[in-house]
Amino acid sequence: MNLILMGAPGAGKGTQSAKIAEKWNIPAVSTGDMLRAAVKEGTELGKAAKSFMDAGQLVPDEVVIGIIKDYLSSDKCTNGFILDGFPRSIPQAEALDAMGVKIDAALSLEVADEKIVERMSGRRICSSCGASYHVVYNPPKQADVCNVCASALYTRADDAAETVLNRLSTYHAITEPLKDYYAAKGILICVDGQEDVEDTTACVMKALSKFEA
Ligand code: AMP
Repeated sequence: MNLILMGAPGAGKGTQSAKIAEKWNIPAVSTGDMLRAAVKEGTELGKAAKSFMDAGQLVPDEVVIGIIKDYLSSDKCTNGFILDGFPRSIPQAEALDAMGVKIDAALSLEVADEKIVERMSGRRICSSCGASYHVVYNPPKQADVCNVCASALYTRADDAAETVLNRLSTYHAITEPLKDYYAAKGILICVDGQEDVEDTTACVMKALSKFEA
């Protein structure tokens, strides 16, 4: 299954993509995670991306298209893949089409803006393995410590309230039109992402069950 996972920032893409990856045994690639790793390492890519990310804006299309092209041409993706956070604009979707990759479904997690703001302010990320938590909805067993690898949790700089509002308006203006793009291809699936993690996962798995062998 070649899957695109869409949704506003904080809609739960990272959480659901990890669950789908586990169940289907296919890799999940997050352009956000790749860009954050590049920023941390101080690479040229990271330097090019940092100011956009800090401001809650999209990194230029050609930068992310290059990353995804490299990734999809690697051996890891032969049995399928989940793209978490790519494409995020019509030119990115067109570039993906031009790579000749067949996409089976574009799954959009639907969450109201008010809920997004509430979620992002409580989000905590593992500094080592990238696992995602929420202080109320998905707390770690021990405060500020990762359940998976026991490293410290942190709050992403771009989860600050003002940046969240910028990211939401970018989402509505530039990313949301992709729903029409994939609906026109007949592969858009919208899933309610408002409820708790388990309920959303159940809806996601039900929606994807038609792709099971
Ligand atoms: P995410 O972790 O998916 O919320 O992404 C964090 C940030 O990385 C975004 O706010 C953008 O600045 C950048 N980013 C991630 N994916 C993309 C993409 N496909 N196109 C442009 N910028 C991206």
